[in-house]
Amino acid sequence: MDLNCLEMGTKCDQVVTGESTKELIEGIHGHMRLAHGYSEAKLASDETDEMIRGAIWQSSRPPDIRTPRPDM
Ligand SMILES: [Zn+2]
Repeated sequence: MDLNCLEMGTKCDQVVTGESTKELIEGIHGHMRLAHGYSEAKLASDETDEMIRGAIWQSSRPPDIRTPRPDM
């Protein structure tokens, strides 16, 4: 799995990868801490958690789901 930092509404296009959602989130935490100066408290907040999970969910959605076209 991977997530582009841009998906979280930043201007940073660093891609973070992980073998699982858990690893990916840990990788993002590390990136946010180093590159964006997030504190442990900010990383642990519900707001940050929702932002990360929302971005992962958005980016893992198949792109064609946005324009459904019935085959009739
Ligand atoms: Zn970033």
